[in-house]
Amino acid sequence: MFFLHTRTLRTSLKMYNYRHSSAWPSQAYINGSWCNAKSGKTFNVINPATGEIIATVPDLNATDVQIAINAANIAFQSWKTTTAKERSDLLRNWYNILVKNKDYLAEIVTAEAGKPLQESLGEVSYGNSFVEWFSEEARRNYGEYVPSPIKSKEILMIRQPLGPVGLITPWNFPIAMITRKASAALAAGCTCVIKPAENTPIMALVLAKFTQEAGIPNGVFNVVTASRENTPQIGQLLCESPGIYGISFTGSTEVGKLLYKQCSSTVKRIGLELGGNAPFIVFDNADLDKAVAGAMASKFRNCGQTCVSANRFLIQKQVYSKFIDKLMEAMKKLVMGNGKDCGINLGPLINISQVEKVDRIVNDAKNKGAKILVGGKQAMNYGERFYEPTLITDVKDNMACYTEEIFGPVAVCIGFESEEEGLKIANNTNRGLAGYFYSNDLSQVWRVSKALEVGMVGVNEGIISSTEAAFGGVKESGLGREGSSHGLEDYTEIKYICFGNIQQN
Ligand code: NAP
Repeated sequence: MFFLHTRTLRTSLKMYNYRHSSAWPSQAYINGSWCNAKSGKTFNVINPATGEIIATVPDLNATDVQIAINAANIAFQSWKTTTAKERSDLLRNWYNILVKNKDYLAEIVTAEAGKPLQESLGEVSYGNSFVEWFSEEARRNYGEYVPSPIKSKEILMIRQPLGPVGLITPWNFPIAMITRKASAALAAGCTCVIKPAENTPIMALVLAKFTQEAGIPNGVFNVVTASRENTPQIGQLLCESPGIYGISFTGSTEVGKLLYKQCSSTVKRIGLELGGNAPFIVFDNADLDKAVAGAMASKFRNCGQTCVSANRFLIQKQVYSKFIDKLMEAMKKLVMGNGKDCGINLGPLINISQVEKVDRIVNDAKNKGAKILVGGKQAMNYGERFYEPTLITDVKDNMACYTEEIFGPVAVCIGFESEEEGLKIANNTNRGLAGYFYSNDLSQVWRVSKALEVGMVGVNEGIISSTEAAFGGVKESGLGREGSSHGLEDYTEIKYICFGNIQQN
């Protein structure tokens, strides 16, 4: 197994001038001002396709972030009194600016996250759609009037904003993971402090710049950038601070569990969108061509680095060989390279530790007797963060590829005999984010949809994310839902108001 010398690589990097990089903000955004870390420390942002430095941003610590929390608290006092229509209009302004700049935003996604440009455009459109959606939902944050059982009393329940919230986001969807949270928070009347991932802070800062242009008041939207070294102290501060009333986190289950614990000290509301281990089941009666198309979209989008990515392909015995042959054919058509170039549909992994993780999982399978039918190693001729699209068969439940979220371009295939056995394997995991299956039997479609222990099901479909639908998981994949008409719930409290001594006629 190869070993990558991460430190040596980092120090040998040189600064690279990206086409529009001079227009990227390079400071944190607190209370409507651009600022550096008090310590003066910074960290570099790397283009994962080339390894070049594309920006340098401030490395904030807990002391800096306390200033952002204070600003969010002051701003909350006036933001919470704005009308839903006023917040809706400001979010709409923001949305219009985002749409106008969609190409510029997609270029940033490709530069800092490595996605092929077409995919980046798709993410930008998905990310922007949350701002549009919550600009509309702001006005539908209804309360409830409930008929009272007592004549002299009336019952009313209203929804009020939680207060300033902390939003912690991952690198795999640099725009969408922020807009999905922040636009819901702002629509509800909350202010926010956003901590983007170390690998993708540029997008967060550009989003901040556009909120400023949209007229969103100072202190409502704050972005605190930090290196992986400083992140834990910032996470702890956000979770334990009495000035933060809710946390919304998207990322790994391991970090989610830590934040959940930290939030207990202030009994803080927490929304968690965590890791998955999605089964993708192909039944004997499925349309195999459609199943392969769905498998390719689900598995290889963002080089397999999506939380809803198919992690285990479960294929019924009668179609097992045929499906694998077709999948191999489709995989051969993938074009790897720098996502900014035309025709590329498979970019790099985000960083060296992700490459090491994927390689460890593939080698573990190899060593325990699995067959590697396609790929199986780093694609060094493209760069050190590229990994060959890989197909593994003869997988057993003691292999890491069976139990762990791979987060890479590795398709793991497992055969099964009956529907019952397929479901047993699918549900044999402590994760439960997405699940997919292909079947043309209507009764089976209902049975399996209900039996899968996941928050989201794709029936004859490999791409399921949509602003209008509730996104979230069960088991150790998370708490709460984002997007949809439920997306405001994480940011509001229900207040019951009892009107007494009412004189009825
Ligand atoms: P991660 O390591 O958990 O990081 C996610 C975010 O948490 C980053 O901003 C990271 O900052 C921060 N973080 C790390 N340690 C922290 C700590 N101790 N306290 C506070 N914040 C901390 O996850 P990742 O590797 O970036 O993302 C991949 C994972 O996210 C996968 O498991 C994937 O399934 C999951 N994900 C889930 C969803 C969903 O909606 N369910 C969507 C996308 C991704 P640094 O970057 O500075 O470490």
